[in-house]
Amino acid sequence: MENVIIIGTGCAGYTAAIYTARANLAPLIISGTQPGGQLTTTTEVENFPGFPEGIMGPDMMMNMQKQAEKFGSRIQYATVKGITKNADGTFGVELEEETLQTKTVIIATGATPRYLGLPKERELIGRGLTSCATCDGAFYRDVPVCVIGGGDSACEEASFLTRFASKVYLIHRRDELRASKIMADRALGNPKIEPIWNSTVGEYLTDEKGEMRAVKLVNLLDSSESELEVACVFVAIGHVPNSSFVSGLVDLDENGYIIQNPGRTSTKTAGLFAAGDVADHYYRQAITAAGQGCAAALEAERYLSDIE
Ligand code: NAP
Repeated sequence: MENVIIIGTGCAGYTAAIYTARANLAPLIISGTQPGGQLTTTTEVENFPGFPEGIMGPDMMMNMQKQAEKFGSRIQYATVKGITKNADGTFGVELEEETLQTKTVIIATGATPRYLGLPKERELIGRGLTSCATCDGAFYRDVPVCVIGGGDSACEEASFLTRFASKVYLIHRRDELRASKIMADRALGNPKIEPIWNSTVGEYLTDEKGEMRAVKLVNLLDSSESELEVACVFVAIGHVPNSSFVSGLVDLDENGYIIQNPGRTSTKTAGLFAAGDVADHYYRQAITAAGQGCAAALEAERYLSDIE
């Protein structure tokens, strides 16, 4: 019987591990399908406090892993299929070939940004293709960039990018934004943002170094194609929270994010906590995920003290 199983190895999961390990709870971490989480798909991280020169995303996650292991966290490379609650209030965490038993669970499985599914997409992430303007916007100063999407994220990212880029094209597949009026008005009222309606990106075009150079635009009304020169493509077509394996024990909002108790990381099931992007569609930052991981660890520790 484990004290705590942490599901996920992003910022939330590793921070929860560091805190629970230092509280002598010997946490077991289940890696999930993308060990290290979303930051392993980015290049330089400049906004995580404590790294004035910036740090590469994969290096930061390796450091977090080392720090978690240093205090006695164990990592099992597996994917969780489901969680069940036992009659005595403990949990079964179902893996492919075994079911682990634990007194508490911290779900820190994150959210997966959606991409278009075009060729070369995986190689281009970090080389002119990204889903995070807050992370990567500052690398693209005085060059044209584009944002794909028509929701609040796309409008927010486009507005944010005008601080750096010479021009921000907002490419949307319809002629009307899905975003809230205030966000849409802000984006469309910005002289640096040029909307490109009824269009999508059909291909990413790269230079001789394999970096983004332009996109092939496809007009969805007449199927005409054109080339748009951009140094970076910011994809903002939504995220999918990785919560589908936890049915019944937690409530999910209409987009699939885990609903936490107000102001806490606890959920409707005692002993089951959620931290980071799987429960947060609003901030979605490495540092906020890490903060929630810390909070979940402290709550799990207090829960264990209360039941013992
Ligand atoms: P979203 O509201 O689901 O919008 C996704 C956008 O991407 C839509 O415009 C959609 O087009 C487009 N899209 C989806 N699949 C596409 C594809 N394959 N090709 C081209 N375009 C595609 O996602 P979001 O903007 O990330 O927002 C998620 C939630 O977070 C929302 O509830 C939002 O209000 C909230 N949010 C709030 C704030 C804020 O208040 N500050 C900021 C960001 C997000 P269609 O419109 O045609 O469907």
